[in-house]
Amino acid sequence: MDSARPRVEALAARERRIAAVGTDVEVRRWIGPRTRVVELRGRTVTPGFGDAHAHVTLSGLERLRCDLTDLRGLDRYLEAVATYAAGHPAESWIVGAGWSMTDFPAGIPAAADLDRVVPDRPVFLDSRDGHSVWVNSRALELAGITSTTVDPADGRIERDADGHPIGTLQENAKYLVMPLLPAPDTDQVLEGLRIGQRVLHEVGITNWQEAYVQADIEDIAFPELAARGELTGRVVGALGWDEARGLEQVDELVERRTRTTVPRYAPTSVKFFADGVIENLTGAMLDPYFDAGGHLTTERGIGMLDPAEFGEAVAAVDALGFQTHVHAIGDRAVRESLDAIELARARNGPSRNRPHIAHIQVIHPDDIGRFRALDVAANVQALWAVLEDQMELLTIPVLGPERSAWQYPFGSLLRAGARLVMGSDWSVSTCDPFDQIEVAVNRVLPEHRGLKPAFLPDERISLEAALEAFTFGSAWVNGLEDEVGSIEVGKAADLAVLDRDLFDRGAGEIGDTTVVATFIDGVAVFERPELER
Ligand SMILES: [Zn+2]
Repeated sequence: MDSARPRVEALAARERRIAAVGTDVEVRRWIGPRTRVVELRGRTVTPGFGDAHAHVTLSGLERLRCDLTDLRGLDRYLEAVATYAAGHPAESWIVGAGWSMTDFPAGIPAAADLDRVVPDRPVFLDSRDGHSVWVNSRALELAGITSTTVDPADGRIERDADGHPIGTLQENAKYLVMPLLPAPDTDQVLEGLRIGQRVLHEVGITNWQEAYVQADIEDIAFPELAARGELTGRVVGALGWDEARGLEQVDELVERRTRTTVPRYAPTSVKFFADGVIENLTGAMLDPYFDAGGHLTTERGIGMLDPAEFGEAVAAVDALGFQTHVHAIGDRAVRESLDAIELARARNGPSRNRPHIAHIQVIHPDDIGRFRALDVAANVQALWAVLEDQMELLTIPVLGPERSAWQYPFGSLLRAGARLVMGSDWSVSTCDPFDQIEVAVNRVLPEHRGLKPAFLPDERISLEAALEAFTFGSAWVNGLEDEVGSIEVGKAADLAVLDRDLFDRGAGEIGDTTVVATFIDGVAVFERPELER
């Protein structure tokens, strides 16, 4: 990632920093009696990877709860819920996550199925993408959700033909139930963050942006883990903006930033939700969705923020030095996000705040050039840019052919001069950067190699561009590019050791790459025994 020296043979690190890069002969001079020498033997060292959008604490916590992430299909889910419930007789609620919408007709699971395995205790299960919740009848009952309950403004209670709740709550309808859930205690939250950080280090990630920081969870976890000397990753926190409230929350954000900033953790970003997702028709679109029969509906999705209020909110936090980080999926959400940032730019002038818009599933062609013009980073989740069940069954039919071709336009963004940064949205999808990079390059999932065509092949990007987005790009969006993101003398020795040369196509597929070791400040935070063999 150093354009002056894109490939070198060797590097030396001393007192946390990269002291030399060059040929083996040049770097050998740095070896002293106490130096640890690692021979790569055909492996590659890259800058440590940066995940520009991940939910690390919650992903770690999920592994402690009823975790459906690696399962597929109703039967497997019910089996896992039953096993978890039997193994945790003292828990008053069965809380979990990780089911996929593609396993249910129209993406909507039913309470009746959960009732068969857990009839007596309430069950609350987040979907893999976090935009839908599956509950059982006991949970509906405790939350008082009946056929007469009105849908909240930013959400939807799925109902049968008679208006009875089915057991799926879309978007903010989950808040009808969530206040009833027992909060995880501090020890559980810390353990979740430890697990999450370890999983990231195992795939070469050394810095990330925590994509939605909650006052009662991450505000506690990051300073506490840092105080115990266990926070190894470099983290920027995106403080969640509460759409139900207005500008009065700005003072609290400033107070939280002041109170919780510690070495390695800076909550200097604010996360806005502009909309929901396409699959449940809550992604905000400029024009209406189609129905299953191919007819235009009147549904244009849910804009979470009134556009005028959105602009005022972004301008207010930007003026206070916060970065703006937006979740935007539909073309209307993307446009309204760009509009809000444009207002902030006009009012506050240039800044180093580096606004970014994450997900950007559907971008109207007129808006592609605005990313560069407004200096807004395109924060992409490359793994989603493929033909698979969710895309083929739930997305393309409701978008129709024209807008389906506007999805994940990474190539178009790069050609228009936009800055691309990459993040996984873990645990929505895998945090393994190499699967994501393979998809950015091929637009086919690793498990569909040779089976599916590339999705919108003109939007493929080069391996160089994808690697840059995942290293230097993510470091930049986290404001860390003077410190990490490239291998240059003087920068921190944050490095990933890969088992192969990514650029040698004879070495195998990109997504099959494994990380042999991960270093932060020159110290291994993850290491396989093979490193010394
Ligand atoms: Zn996310």
